[in-house]
Amino acid sequence: MAEIEFTLIRKECKFLDPRNNWDCVVVPIEIRRDPLTGRTARICHFRVGKWKSPDFRTVIPGTEVWCPFCPDKVLEKTPRFPEEILPEGRLVRHDSVLFPNLAPYDGISGVVSIGPEHFLPMTGFSVERLVNAFGLCFSFFERLRERKHPDSVHPLIMWNYMPASGSSVIHPHLQILSSSSPPNLLRERDEAALKYYGKTGRNFWDDFIEKERGGERYIAGTGRIHWISAFAPSGVAGDVLAIVKEVHTFFDLLEEDLTALCDGFTRVMAAYEDFGMGSFNLALYQGSVENEHSCLHAVFSPRTYFYQKLGTPDTGAIRHLFDEPIVMSYPEEIAGHIRSFFKRP
Ligand SMILES: [Zn+2]
Repeated sequence: MAEIEFTLIRKECKFLDPRNNWDCVVVPIEIRRDPLTGRTARICHFRVGKWKSPDFRTVIPGTEVWCPFCPDKVLEKTPRFPEEILPEGRLVRHDSVLFPNLAPYDGISGVVSIGPEHFLPMTGFSVERLVNAFGLCFSFFERLRERKHPDSVHPLIMWNYMPASGSSVIHPHLQILSSSSPPNLLRERDEAALKYYGKTGRNFWDDFIEKERGGERYIAGTGRIHWISAFAPSGVAGDVLAIVKEVHTFFDLLEEDLTALCDGFTRVMAAYEDFGMGSFNLALYQGSVENEHSCLHAVFSPRTYFYQKLGTPDTGAIRHLFDEPIVMSYPEEIAGHIRSFFKRP
């Protein structure tokens, strides 16, 4: 039988509360363990209702003047890939453009500007626009693979949307890397799936989908994609997993998978915007070529400020230096909220 376990420890913290006539209050806390990696997350500091939406009115105006991704500057201000990587220098699909990152993270490091608008709210992205942007990434990775580039081993796609996510540019853009050195969590997830296969003879993600399907964290199934609220998330308001069943790498992804994936992203964005979140990180994890027991999946993780006026981010020492996520809503409740956005036409 499946070895997947959702384990948690329930704790209570008691204190005498000055806000409550010094009566003793009991605050519940859960420490949950991720069924794939075993990493823990703390569900605590529960918030009631929605978050306070960030105020972008003071952040955005004027940034378009120097924005290198705006259509009047993108072909003048952004670099071009050299001949041996991409003879045409950049890739263009409709109104999205792929070019090298001026501040690279690896031998192959790029950016995709998503459309001409300098700012789009989370509800402003059409499915078609996202398909174009992600499609550009896949075309680029395919070119690297054809050329047998030594860094074509681990292609990565990331999206930092708005400043609370770590982005310094308002204009919507994806970041891409291709590297022979996988980052920590990609390596960890890949190795954990391989270990699971070694123990059970089965694919972790197939078992995971079966275990979560129809449950309180299951959001929706669209085509081959299963949308699930993570049991032990990394974000303060949960994470949404999008698992593309039976798909191993970006190169196995069909056009209809990409459309379903982007359609789901627009719904998740709308749900979190409605929840008061104005920023997010998104990453796509593909299985390494030598590990066919992993599965392509995306993690959407909303981000916010704890206090925007002071620029207080939603990560402190416990998250940054102990690598312990603090989650302020129950993943099961978050799933219920997002599920309603998947029922809309
Ligand atoms: Zn711009």
